[in-house]
Amino acid sequence: MSDIQKTDVIIIGAGPCGLFAVFELGLLDLRCHLVDILDKPGGQCAELYPEKPIYDIPALPICTGQELTDRLMEQIAPFDPVFHYGQMAEALEKLDDGSWLLTTSDGVKLNAPVVVIAAGGGSFVPKRPPLSDLDDFEASGAVQYAVRKRDTLAGKRLVIAGGGDSALDWTVNLVDIAESVTLVHRRDDFRAAPDTVAKMRALVAEGRVTLHIGQLKGLEGTGGQLENVLVQAAGDEAPDALAADVLLPFYGLTMKLGPIAEFGLNLEENLIPVDTERFETSEPSIFAVGDINHYPGKLKLILSGFHEAALMAHAAYGIIHPDKKIRFQYTTSSSSLQQKLGVA
Ligand SMILES: Cc1cc2nc3c(=O)[nH]c(=O)nc-3n(C[C@H](O)[C@H](O)[C@H](O)COP(=O)(O)OP(=O)(O)OC[C@H]3O[C@@H](n4cnc5c(N)ncnc54)[C@H](O)[C@@H]3O)c2cc1C
Repeated sequence: MSDIQKTDVIIIGAGPCGLFAVFELGLLDLRCHLVDILDKPGGQCAELYPEKPIYDIPALPICTGQELTDRLMEQIAPFDPVFHYGQMAEALEKLDDGSWLLTTSDGVKLNAPVVVIAAGGGSFVPKRPPLSDLDDFEASGAVQYAVRKRDTLAGKRLVIAGGGDSALDWTVNLVDIAESVTLVHRRDDFRAAPDTVAKMRALVAEGRVTLHIGQLKGLEGTGGQLENVLVQAAGDEAPDALAADVLLPFYGLTMKLGPIAEFGLNLEENLIPVDTERFETSEPSIFAVGDINHYPGKLKLILSGFHEAALMAHAAYGIIHPDKKIRFQYTTSSSSLQQKLGVA
């Protein structure tokens, strides 16, 4: 059991509701570990609309998705949560003592008496290009949807596909270490930040990056070893074969419920039914807050998830400390809460 990390509460999902759950649990002295497949906190707010304004967070007349995330991170900092980013919460097993063992896609094992599912619209997974025979190339690492270790791409012939921020950021970022970088996009028009587009164009002008306008058509190679990426330009009869070791498609992310569907919980149309007193699922000591849950009258708003997190935290405390009673306190007037927050 030595490689198992123990905590009070495991939270699946570091979106706004998972983050605020850390706050409510922290006020009750409950420690949290969070797992998110994204490499950053904020869920939909940070991934889908970081620069769009939100107008319906109580007492914050306007803030962007990223500002809300940053403020939540600041608010929960006193509770020192442990984040496991870039990992899927993959398997959940009930142990003999009634606690839960969660295993992530990186093999991290977390043990806690309470699990909170704050998985929103599901886990963000990369959109795959519509090519056949991708599986072998994905398994060998010849097709990668995120750059986890930049150094592993040193000296490689890279084809980067896409026209958004990720594709252009990595084009600019990898050119110094790769043997060659070819950027493939279906048209000569890019959605990325203007500054990055300008950098990419300068690299193309210097001959350090090749820009290829066309669509991915296929992959050539054997046993997962990539040899060529086939790219079809509009109007051409046959596709061009671009010699490559690694293809990095950056076509954005989509949301899927993923492994949570296999946790043995009751589901209704990919949502997890909960009661509205405790926000507990069909399995005692597993709670669900935020967009992932369902109950009569549910509104998929961030503020609903915040309310759910407060009630969930009190119920979770009763499971973790069945012999103790919570004394209801206000942060305004309780010196013990203020000490926990580091403001007293
Ligand atoms: C464009 C847009 C505008 C919006 N505007 C507003 C608004 O103005 N006001 C408002 O209240 N709401 C708004 N919303 C909705 C709001 O963003 C959601 O209600 C909110 O993000 C839900 O928060 P959450 O924490 O429940 O889930 P999410 O934000 O979806 O976060 C869930 C996290 O869980 C992770 N995850 C899921 N499954 C797993 C797994 N198995 N392993 C690891 N990680 C996993 C995901 O990667 C994700 O990061 C908007 C949504 C969009 C798309």
